Amino acid sequence: MEIQRIGIVGAGQMGNGIAHVCALAGYDILMTDMSQDALDSATALIGKNLERQVSREKISKDDMALAIGRIKTTLKLPDLGQTDLVIEAATERETIKTAIFEDLVPHLKPETILTSNTSSISITRLASRTDRPEKFMGFHFMNPVPVMQLVELIRGIATDEPTFAACHKVVDRLGKTAATAEDFPGFIVNRILMPMINEAVYTLYEGVGSVQSIDVSLRLGANHPMGPLELADFIGLDTCLAIMNVLHDGLADTKYRPCPLLTKYVEAGWLGRKSGRGFYDYRGDEPVPTR
Ligand code: NAD
Repeated sequence: MEIQRIGIVGAGQMGNGIAHVCALAGYDILMTDMSQDALDSATALIGKNLERQVSREKISKDDMALAIGRIKTTLKLPDLGQTDLVIEAATERETIKTAIFEDLVPHLKPETILTSNTSSISITRLASRTDRPEKFMGFHFMNPVPVMQLVELIRGIATDEPTFAACHKVVDRLGKTAATAEDFPGFIVNRILMPMINEAVYTLYEGVGSVQSIDVSLRLGANHPMGPLELADFIGLDTCLAIMNVLHDGLADTKYRPCPLLTKYVEAGWLGRKSGRGFYDYRGDEPVPTR
């Protein structure tokens, strides 16, 4: 099946990035959110990010104008019923995602493929709440979407081959690289990345190293572009904790237990960059380690 129209649910951090890259690749986009403000901010941010790409000579002014022209927004979820592929990128809460799919299903064309950008919720479970588990899969972009090359494609237990092939074709047309994962907690990236971040927090908790010495060790000693604590602040400590809990609950192995210090930061509301403070304090000119 040829995909041309893509529906995006959720115009937050991820939704706007997904709309941006899909529109640049020539797809027609219909993006929805429950908040008009979110749609307006997403449209403004996409314009700003495209302009930055023009100023860096990554794309032309014509590419930018064409991409902007391909993005439409709506507050009505049923309008997405006529798209060929839906990418759900709403808030990471299972009840929200399930309600979205249940509301959307009666309006869908029979051939529309449904996908979720979830970082951790079971694809098989989300699929089972729709009328088309064989046409449902995980389409997991990385943040920030315009910059990151990888898309994880996750098959639910029922996902059929034509659905997988159609989604793979979209990833290819975006110029990104697909990695295929089976539907187990954390998929591939977060299954490996989050225990490393959690171990870095244990290293800090046990006093083996300071924030700075842990980050510099991984940057210069393992050639990572960012230290694990810097990266945790960038992702959001609440998100890191939520994913560790999914690994711990879903795999029932104590090796995934979240570090108590990570829990404490989240309880304090020190969630990383987005709240101004995490393992670093971002409220001044330069980030300052908080331990
Ligand atoms: P966000 O909070 O920035 O955006 C979520 C958006 O969903 C908001 O604009 C909100 O208004 C909207 N929304 C909530 N309920 C809705 C509904 N019923 N109908 C329509 N819109 C609704 O979140 P985000 O960081 O963009 O994350 C979105 C998804 O992407 C989550 O599933 C998350 O796990 C996943 N993800 C996030 C990252 C990341 O680093 N932030 C990376 C990969 C995947």
